Amino acid sequence: MLGSIQNHPLLISSLITFAERHHGDGEVVSRRVEGDIHRSSWSDVARRSRQVARALDALGLQFSDRVATLAWNGYRHLELYFGVSGSGRVLHTINPRLPADQIAWIANHAEDRVLCFDVSFLPLVQAIHSKCETIQHYVALCDDANLPADSGLPNLVSYERWIGREPTDYDWPTFDENAASSMCYTSGTTGHPKAALYSHRSTILHAYAGAVPDVLDLSAADCILPVVPMFHVNAWGIPYGAALTGCKLVLPGPAMDGKSIHALIETEQVTCAAGVPTIWQMLLTHVDANKLSFSTLRRTVIGGAACPPAMLEAFARHHVEVRHAWGMTETSPIGTLGALKRKHMGLPPEERAGVLLKQGRAVFGVDMRIVSTDGREAAWDGKTFGDLQVRGHWVIQDYFKHEGRSPLDDGWFRTGDVATIDPDGYMQITDRTKDVIKSGGEWISSIGVENIAMSHPAIQIAACIGVPHPKWDERPIIVAVRRPGMDLSAAELIGFYEGKVAKWQTPDDAVFVDAIPLGPTGKMLKSKLREMLRDYALPASA
Ligand code: ADP
Repeated sequence: MLGSIQNHPLLISSLITFAERHHGDGEVVSRRVEGDIHRSSWSDVARRSRQVARALDALGLQFSDRVATLAWNGYRHLELYFGVSGSGRVLHTINPRLPADQIAWIANHAEDRVLCFDVSFLPLVQAIHSKCETIQHYVALCDDANLPADSGLPNLVSYERWIGREPTDYDWPTFDENAASSMCYTSGTTGHPKAALYSHRSTILHAYAGAVPDVLDLSAADCILPVVPMFHVNAWGIPYGAALTGCKLVLPGPAMDGKSIHALIETEQVTCAAGVPTIWQMLLTHVDANKLSFSTLRRTVIGGAACPPAMLEAFARHHVEVRHAWGMTETSPIGTLGALKRKHMGLPPEERAGVLLKQGRAVFGVDMRIVSTDGREAAWDGKTFGDLQVRGHWVIQDYFKHEGRSPLDDGWFRTGDVATIDPDGYMQITDRTKDVIKSGGEWISSIGVENIAMSHPAIQIAACIGVPHPKWDERPIIVAVRRPGMDLSAAELIGFYEGKVAKWQTPDDAVFVDAIPLGPTGKMLKSKLREMLRDYALPASA
């Protein structure tokens, strides 16, 4: 017997229809590429996303055709989120920080038909357009006054002209909720990038799950700032979650530096902000150096890479709660979140910090397990390491157009992360499988080694990598950047580990560099670091 309840497909168009109807005057504020601040509302976004849908119809785009973007976080990008997917096409957000030939490769692989780009990416688009075989239309996200002249791009039109000539009414089509809605390629540090192809159903369920109090905790009384880019995993689903709850949305455009982000948080009265640790590092450095504070910010969601303990402490000093999150492009991305349970409330601050620094509990909709090298599920004792595997409503089944070995194992997606899970269900990432350091048969967590270095007041950022060792196979070294004007020797940094970890987990050497290479999603790029240090030799004493 079936339940006698209506069955409406879960479609992205319903989010923007809801936001317009119930939160029409809710604010959407963007810093534009042009440098100014633009103010709009959910009803403006809804109206203009209908014009986007009509403009795509006018170009003759079919159901499931791909529309690519090379754009910062801004209102026009947001309108494309709803207009493209809502009308049944697939939004392909491209990460502009990828190498140019990789961008051309993925545009061809995705078979993109339209490319919408911020004018700041014009040189990039000009460099690749002749290699992009399927793109027929180029849309510059600006008005006619800012449209680049003599760009050499075929059929180039300004976004404002493109949508401005369309009527503002549109009947969003109804279709299968499992239809593809958007796609995002992983950064592909080895081999070609691979794409996760999300569906309307997965996106809506992910948005619901993301809004609940133990996850992003979004409400119509909130103001959220996704510093995480809209070109990477849909800005962690925040644009959808914001429409679902009607919260105020603040989009930072290209200005990701500490000063600009702090100014935006203060002027727009942001209550919750989300981004990767490298962004928060810049913000905190700016705030502390200028003796500033946060008057409205209550919470930061930190994910994409491990949150160092020093960052948790720095935010606590500013009375900002840290929510540590783990996820992947392949998991839409939210997998786990480190909100506390009732039983943790009375714990002393150091013990609470220990819980908060883990990557957190699985959110409803995602199931996880860790698997040992013998192929068995490992115990949830907080100590046993295993390969992290997940499954759920918004975890990929396979990559787009993928041939070869499936990323699934018995229906579980192999994340490529190594983790422990404690008896309360809090997962802790120790490493990417490829970054794990194996010394004398024991695993050393590079994240653990990095966290200690980053808690030293003279260290700005640090990465731990393994280097070959004749006796122990591999030994860890710490590669670090000193804070400007600070002095610290390698011996002093190594000495700082004393009493904090066992001798065998202490790095054998510290190497100071001017900068740690960052990947296209703002994470430390250890493959590049290993390449930089390929002639490095351990000290003779090691
Ligand atoms: P890309 O693969 O394109 O760099 P993803 O966002 O898909 O970007 O990367 C996912 C990986 O990032 C995870 O598998 C994990 O290794 C790492 N990661 C994500 N969140 C965290 C976190 N909170 N702590 C440690 N590592 C994390």
